[in-house]
Amino acid sequence: MDLIQGFQEIVGPQNVLTDPNDQAGYLVDWTNRFHGRALAVVRPASTEEVSKIMALAHANDIPVVVQSGNTSLVGGGTPDDSGKALLLSLSRMNKIERVDPINDTMTVQAGVILEKAQEAAEASGRLFPLSFAAEGTACLGGCIATNAGGTAVLRYGNTRDLVLGLEVVLADGRVVNMLRGLRKDNTGYDLKHLFMASEGTLGVITRAVVKLFPLPKSTFTGLVGVESVQKACELLACVKSATGPAVTGFELMQAKCIERVGKEIPNMTLPCDVSVAPWWCLIELSYCDVLDESPLEALLETAFENELVIDAVLSNSVKECRHLWSIRESIPSADAHAGGNLHNDVSLEISEIPAFVEETLQALEDRFPWVDPSVFGHLGDGNLHFNVGSIPPAVAFENEEGIREVVYERVVAHNGSISAEHGIGQLKRAHFLELKNPIELEVMNALKLTLDPKGLLNPGKLLAD
Ligand SMILES: Cc1cc2nc3c(=O)[nH]c(=O)nc-3n(C[C@H](O)[C@H](O)[C@H](O)COP(=O)(O)OP(=O)(O)OC[C@H]3O[C@@H](n4cnc5c(N)ncnc54)[C@H](O)[C@@H]3O)c2cc1C
Repeated sequence: MDLIQGFQEIVGPQNVLTDPNDQAGYLVDWTNRFHGRALAVVRPASTEEVSKIMALAHANDIPVVVQSGNTSLVGGGTPDDSGKALLLSLSRMNKIERVDPINDTMTVQAGVILEKAQEAAEASGRLFPLSFAAEGTACLGGCIATNAGGTAVLRYGNTRDLVLGLEVVLADGRVVNMLRGLRKDNTGYDLKHLFMASEGTLGVITRAVVKLFPLPKSTFTGLVGVESVQKACELLACVKSATGPAVTGFELMQAKCIERVGKEIPNMTLPCDVSVAPWWCLIELSYCDVLDESPLEALLETAFENELVIDAVLSNSVKECRHLWSIRESIPSADAHAGGNLHNDVSLEISEIPAFVEETLQALEDRFPWVDPSVFGHLGDGNLHFNVGSIPPAVAFENEEGIREVVYERVVAHNGSISAEHGIGQLKRAHFLELKNPIELEVMNALKLTLDPKGLLNPGKLLAD
């Protein structure tokens, strides 16, 4: 039987796309940098269909690239240009199967869009705290496969910390059912963690049980100007000591990142003159009680007295709070509009960040005097998007290798990681293979060989082929 016909029999002819026009949107990544070709785009609607597709692909040595929301910034869900791979899109597996407010869990199919999961939780009076700028497109399967981070890691952890159970289809079509909502389960190795951050190289995540939390009733947000990254770190320490688990977000942004948002994003007004301070922190506190007075206001008054803070704008309504967050979340788009920006997504111990930022900015300027870095990120969990643009824009890309070397050299010197949350994909594979501890790589390769001996799952990503 013809292979395409075999896939059509599993999912129906309308869900096997072979026409290049129909496939087009699946074959380019969000950054428009990685382009590929596919034998077919196949869109299953159930675990059973995924299992049959994987078995058929495996029997015929067909590589499989899983794609969810296709918002990977590292070319993770884009096939290579051989045209041999099957692109498995989970967009039809978009059901929220169960919300359990007693167990505080939600069972979802992998193609559920993150924003829909947040809305379903909220409709049941619960919070699903994973949140980031691509939440209207990214899907739970993609979030789990990349162990996504986002804006609330400080309080709730990464995606890995939010997942209790998983269902995974292996390379040969066998289904591993670990779909349990247990908070304690010490029956041997916790295999679900193998598939989180595996970037589609070990199996296809089809369903998950995720944790829910009480919905905050009071949220206080402030945009706070500080003189240096060191002061921002000291402010973070003060906020954490004073408010404990109430601090849900602590973002850091260069003033020029905010100014660029004002310039590049239509209808975006800035809440104050951000040129009065070189760095700004977006701080969010949230409480399950109804509080009339903002604890942030009192806290910042003390910080002013201690000369930790230069200026601050506090939100007075949900609308203003959303506006402050939308400024932070528009930075990647504003950078993209401005043209040419090399993304870096690094993590360091928070205490190392001031020295890292100072040294890296200086080293970049010494070697590439035309650089225009855009430094922002989730300071509260030690994660910086240390992006590098240039004036004029395209020059950064022409010097990509040298720029990344400067940034990664400083990351390694400070014992950090070259990927905090976006993963490795195609973009960072060469550097990952060069910089990762060789014994860790050996163990990863052994696991890959066990679960995908034919090397069919997402070739060209993460590990060496
Ligand atoms: C504007 C913007 C802001 C972003 N901000 C953040 C942020 O703050 N934090 C963060 O962590 N990320 C961020 N990202 C990156 C991206 O959104 C995340 O990596 C997200 O988790 C990817 O989800 P997705 O559904 O789009 O996955 P895709 O891009 O479709 O896939 C990502 C990887 O996972 C694999 N995969 C997808 N689905 C499955 C599955 N069901 N089973 C197995 N493997 C699978 C793919 O093969 C690929 O390797 C941002 C992206 C954009 C565009």
